[in-house]
Amino acid sequence: MNIKDQANRLLLHPERRFGADLDTWMVDVGGEGLENALQDPDSIIPTIKNAELLGLGGSGFPTHIKWSYVSEEGLNEDGSRSTDIDKYLICNGNEDEPGTFKDRILLKETPHQVIEGALITALGVGANQIVFYINPEQKGSLEAMEEATEQWSDSTLLQRISTELGRPLELFVVASSGHYIGGEETAALESIEGNFPFPRGKPPYPAKAGLFGMPTLINNIETIANVSHIMRNGAEWFKSLGRGSSHGTKIFSLSGDVLRPGAYELPMGTPLQELIDIHGGGMLLNRKLKAVFMGGPSNTILTPKDLDVPLDFYKVQERRSSLGTGAMIVVSEGTGVVRRVTEYISFFAKSSCGQCPSCKTGTYYAAQLLTKIDSGSGSQADLDTLINLTKILPGSGRCHLLDGAMKLLDSSLYHFMDEYEQPLLIDKTVDNR
Ligand code: SF4
Repeated sequence: MNIKDQANRLLLHPERRFGADLDTWMVDVGGEGLENALQDPDSIIPTIKNAELLGLGGSGFPTHIKWSYVSEEGLNEDGSRSTDIDKYLICNGNEDEPGTFKDRILLKETPHQVIEGALITALGVGANQIVFYINPEQKGSLEAMEEATEQWSDSTLLQRISTELGRPLELFVVASSGHYIGGEETAALESIEGNFPFPRGKPPYPAKAGLFGMPTLINNIETIANVSHIMRNGAEWFKSLGRGSSHGTKIFSLSGDVLRPGAYELPMGTPLQELIDIHGGGMLLNRKLKAVFMGGPSNTILTPKDLDVPLDFYKVQERRSSLGTGAMIVVSEGTGVVRRVTEYISFFAKSSCGQCPSCKTGTYYAAQLLTKIDSGSGSQADLDTLINLTKILPGSGRCHLLDGAMKLLDSSLYHFMDEYEQPLLIDKTVDNR
């Protein structure tokens, strides 16, 4: 078995893509990780720490640190866990960014590995309520999770966790509002509480006062899906799946101008060129690569000189971009970058929840200016204003939506200024006639 086969045995193994059947999951690989966790619940967080599992929803934050914060909440004076206050685990499957389509596959095709990972996580941090928070646009995911959680309700394993926790462990499937911003972790809390998903200010952080004011852990679906495998095979096994200094695997949502777009689970640290040329089948019509919109696409754009970058959180950061959700939207020579950026900034403008004036007006204004420039009716003053927005807006919003939008805009101006200036020159020529 080579590294690729081994990696493919993890989250997206084709033989496990047959839906919501708990018995089949148990015959295949299910239950072993949970059994190990039940034998020694105190080993769960240290094992995740040793595996160096990172948050795979885009943060890249060490998972065990987040878990430890929540684990330390709701303790009695003698250090034992209180059973008087609820503690929540939210498994975030809102996934609504352009070009990202990994969590919906995990939820729809392999719901039991997600649920088993969530059960182990709840046991590790002492949560007695698990919420699977799912985008209702992904109807198949929602249905698969409803069916799968129902199957676990009579499981003896679930009963054993409840015994260990000293109270019943309950599972809920909740449809999100479907808004992009509802994926932001504090917006998810509002949404689950039945409100519009306005992101909350921090502090307090969800670990202290999250859902209904109670300690809450929020993890992305892909992060949770890794947990049962780590508890089954051990931290060293997980670490060995990565390449070079990277650990584990990552699901890359590859789309755009490639022959074989799709979700590819590969060793963390796989070079960008290999993702595009080997797994993606190369560029459509043998065109040259022009740019890769990274992670959502609310990050700095990568260009052909970055093809050698190993795809992991740290190495991509060294190129001043971010791996984000692992979404890679590939565009080829001949594609207008200004038009693409206009589409994405318009998406962010529509997605802004509107509670920060700088975000609401800033993204809207940027989208207007971009549309004007792209249509050939912009002026140098419009371009100067656009550049100025990338300098004054970052840091003025409550959540990362505004900063992400500005990062994308700023890097497109840096790499493709000629494409912004070109329509202005054409306009000037027309004026001179
Ligand atoms: S930055 Fe934008 S999306 Fe985020 S809270 Fe403020 S207005 Fe809402």
